Amino acid sequence: MHYLSTRGDATARKFCDILLAGLAPDGGLYLPAHYPQIGTERLGQLRRIYAEQGYAALAFEILSLYIDDIPADDLRAICRKTYTEEVFGTAAITPVRQLEGQLHVEALSNGPTLAFKDMAMQLLGNLFEYELARRGEQLNILGATSGDTGSAAEYAMRGKQGVRVFMTSPHGRMSPFQQAQMFSLQDENIHNLAIEGVFDDCQDIVKAVSNDLAFKAQYKIGTVNSINWARLLAQVVYYFAGYFQATQSNDQQVSFTVPSGNFGNVCAGHVARQMGLPIARLVVATNENDVLDEFFRTGVYQVRGAAATFETSSPSMDISKASNFERFIFDLVGRDGARTQALFAQGVGQEGRFDLSGDPVFADIQARFGFVSGKSTHADRLATIRDSYRRLGQMVDTHTADGIKVAREHVGAEPMIVLETALPIKFAATIEEALGRQPDRPAQFDGIESLPKRVQVLPADVTQVKAYIARHCD
Ligand SMILES: *Cc1c(COP(=O)(O)O)cnc(C)c1O
Repeated sequence: MHYLSTRGDATARKFCDILLAGLAPDGGLYLPAHYPQIGTERLGQLRRIYAEQGYAALAFEILSLYIDDIPADDLRAICRKTYTEEVFGTAAITPVRQLEGQLHVEALSNGPTLAFKDMAMQLLGNLFEYELARRGEQLNILGATSGDTGSAAEYAMRGKQGVRVFMTSPHGRMSPFQQAQMFSLQDENIHNLAIEGVFDDCQDIVKAVSNDLAFKAQYKIGTVNSINWARLLAQVVYYFAGYFQATQSNDQQVSFTVPSGNFGNVCAGHVARQMGLPIARLVVATNENDVLDEFFRTGVYQVRGAAATFETSSPSMDISKASNFERFIFDLVGRDGARTQALFAQGVGQEGRFDLSGDPVFADIQARFGFVSGKSTHADRLATIRDSYRRLGQMVDTHTADGIKVAREHVGAEPMIVLETALPIKFAATIEEALGRQPDRPAQFDGIESLPKRVQVLPADVTQVKAYIARHCD
């Protein structure tokens, strides 16, 4: 399998070439040259493998279609080491449960940081360690987080050979639980940098460091953001696992609803559907930051700046420029790299907008690609959390609640699977507002807020962040 860029650079690259890279040199995102097709017979084999050997074996089968520069035995070992009951809490790894009628929830949030990002990040940690050892190289990951991504990255990379993490976060602005999760890590290779500023300041610092090419090369700076193809690929696996759990035979269809921000999670569903997994519809659920809902309803993609982005009670979806969206648009316009370049580098880049409403590719977006959408507000979220708990006896987090609200508007004859993207304890204040009680806390997190914290507070100043990195790299 080779990888190409959404903006037309077709230089043949292998999986491990793009594993440690960010954007393609032309500014595009990497995608496989084609999507391997899973016919009915092969789907039957995968169903048996999943039933008999479990999630890690299924992951190996899917991943090996896209990775041919890691020996099969090594890749199998990496999958086995990643997807264990010990790390993900259940032998099923991503168990599907019924909410009511055709409505189901697939649990993706029982990993170490209680959000679905662990599903991909845990694999990435093991792939990075493997590839860096093979090359005899080191990598220093620099990131910015408002909560979920940073903790998932730290728990995935802690104690790994050849990797250090420098994670910036806005000082005092994450929830006490999120701060405790990150700052209680005592591993030598994990560095928490609490920046005196807001999330955008953290992002600006990361950008400024990455744009200093000499510094970046000298200190081997890398990232683990959501455009990384390996993260997306890891997420494809649980669409198959969800399908097998919600159906008995391979002539059945299912639909998925995905609480969305950067479009990474639902883009993995798009890949699974392109491979031939019988997915009727992919429902994109947004919160008040509804840039994606607007596109799927109208054909107009209008990104918004930080000032026009609302702070909501489903904060991991407070995104007004979806970094993975370009991958889908590339497929939508028939994999035309020049056209994608024109839409994103010129359209979004300059005016922050493009309009496909009059284009034939938009007219059949639902028929060809299965995409529909909807949005949910704070009031919807509270009502859904209450209803799920009081009437159905299930406590769900705020992002998953957005998914359930929108899924109900699209339930058809086939099972509808909502992806559970976090557990309620991560967003306790809103649960308390909805239910008048604290969410349940998994036993391993008892007393986490009183553990010793390992964090360096720094001003929002690139020079000081660079100096900190330099001091802590050998
Ligand atoms: C990251 C995240 C999302 C959004 O996922 P994308 O892949 O960015 O669309 C939704 N919910 C939670 C809890 C998250 O952490």
